[in-house]
Amino acid sequence: MTTATLDDVRRVVADVPDPELPFVTLGDLGVVRDVQWHGDTVLVTLTPTYSGCPATEVIARHVVEAVTGLGLAAEVRTVLAPAWTTDWITERGLKALRDNGIAPPHQGSVSVTLGRHVPSCPRCGSSGTEEVSRFGASACTALWRCRSCGEPFDHVRPL
Ligand SMILES: [Zn+2]
Repeated sequence: MTTATLDDVRRVVADVPDPELPFVTLGDLGVVRDVQWHGDTVLVTLTPTYSGCPATEVIARHVVEAVTGLGLAAEVRTVLAPAWTTDWITERGLKALRDNGIAPPHQGSVSVTLGRHVPSCPRCGSSGTEEVSRFGASACTALWRCRSCGEPFDHVRPL
């Protein structure tokens, strides 16, 4: 028999790294909605980040592995409502993104001419940036470039 508690489960689940942005955890992203007993099984409820994100299945598998590591059986359920928004990313998560050269969502300014959010460069802070591609290194980032320092960077698309 295991002596793991739901608090232990919450901790290991929150510590599971995001498969696409491995320096942020599920806790940082704010995707863990609920952890509770369902009979002898732990039911973990997650809200996926970007819908259709291929990482969702990988995340579910890693969550089950983490809980199994505590000697418990786990089931993962995903709920789509309320939909995840980038507002759920914690301060720690936003800092981890910046520290890894990725412009977090809602950082920068809203361009009046473009009618949308324009991130500032995570390296030099310049607001003179341009989108190179809607898709970056992961499903939830876009590739941008800084016109001041010339550096390309990934930007977590705000949702
Ligand atoms: Zn720059």
